[in-house]
Amino acid sequence: MPDLDLDLTRDALATSTLDHGLQLLGERWTMAVVLGAFLGVRRFDEWQSRLGIPRHTLAQRLRSLTELGLLRQRPYQQRPLRHAYHLTTKGMTLYPHVLMMWVWERRWGRRALDLPERLVHTRCGHAFAPALACEACGEKAGIGDLRFTLAPNTALQGRPSVRSRAPRLAASDGAEPSHGLTVDRWVLLIVSAVLLGCHHFDALSHVLGIGSSVLSRRLANMVDAGLLLCQTDLADGRRKIYRLTPASRDLFGYILCFAAWASRHHFGEPSSIRPTHRACGRPFRPQVVCSHCRAPLLAHEVRFEMAPQ
Ligand SMILES: [Zn+2]
Ligand SMILES: [Zn+2]
Repeated sequence: MPDLDLDLTRDALATSTLDHGLQLLGERWTMAVVLGAFLGVRRFDEWQSRLGIPRHTLAQRLRSLTELGLLRQRPYQQRPLRHAYHLTTKGMTLYPHVLMMWVWERRWGRRALDLPERLVHTRCGHAFAPALACEACGEKAGIGDLRFTLAPNTALQGRPSVRSRAPRLAASDGAEPSHGLTVDRWVLLIVSAVLLGCHHFDALSHVLGIGSSVLSRRLANMVDAGLLLCQTDLADGRRKIYRLTPASRDLFGYILCFAAWASRHHFGEPSSIRPTHRACGRPFRPQVVCSHCRAPLLAHEVRFEMAPQ
C-alpha cells in the first residue's frame, strides 16, 4: 500500500460526484422509491403498501425526485384528481445503477423489499446476472482490476444548492432502521474511503470529516451489519484496523455506477475519484452487461420475475 495522502483523499471525497449525488439520492427511503419505480410502481398507495413508508415521507421523497427530474406526474384519475409517477428519460438513466442495487440487495441485503428473483434478457433469451464491464474494452472488471487517481474538482466544492435540495438525512443516523435498504450515503462513503486505503479510525475521521462519536456509531453499525471487519492492527496492538467484508467489497459496482451516473447525467462534471482499467489502460467507464451475451442492458430488454411470497 503506497503512502496515503489524507488531505488529498478528503478533498477528493468531498468533491466527488459520488458524495454529491448521494446527498440527493443516498437516503434509504429515496433509493427504495427509485427501486420501486423500476419495478413498475406508479401510484402513491402502491408505494406505501409495498415499502411500508410513512405517507409524509413518501410524499416528500416523490416531490424531491420530481424536482430532480427523475419522476414526472401524470394524472390517472380526474375526480378526485390523482397522479401517478413515471420515470422520465433522465430517471431511466439510473438503470445500470439500479441493476447493481438489485443484485446487491438480493445477495446481501435485509430483503425488506420484494426484489426480482430472476432476470431474463429478452434480447438473447437467457436468464442472466448483471455484470460490470469496461465500456472501452468490453472486458468484465472487478475491484482489483482498477487503479484510482484522485483529482479534487473545485466545481463541486460548495454547491450549496445541492445540500439544500437534499432530503433530510438525519432519519438514518443513530440506530439502524428496520425498514428499507441496507445501505445509505454514509455506508457507501465509508466503504469508498476504505477502498481508497483508509483503514484506521483517525484516517476515516479525517477524510470523511465526521466527529468521533458519530463515526464510532456508524462503524459499529456496519460491523454489526457484516459490512466491516474490525481487527487489532498487528503492526500496532493499540489500534484497530477496519477492512471490507465480501458483502461490502461487492458494493464497488454499485458505487462506480452511481458515481458515473452522477457525473454524466446529473452534474456534468468529472468525478474526482478516477478509475483506470489496468488491463486496457483507459479511463474506466462502467457498463452493466448481460452475463450471458455481454450486451449492455436496457430496461425494455429485461424481464423480471419476483420471488414468491
Ligand atoms: Zn478496459
Ligand atoms: Zn443477454
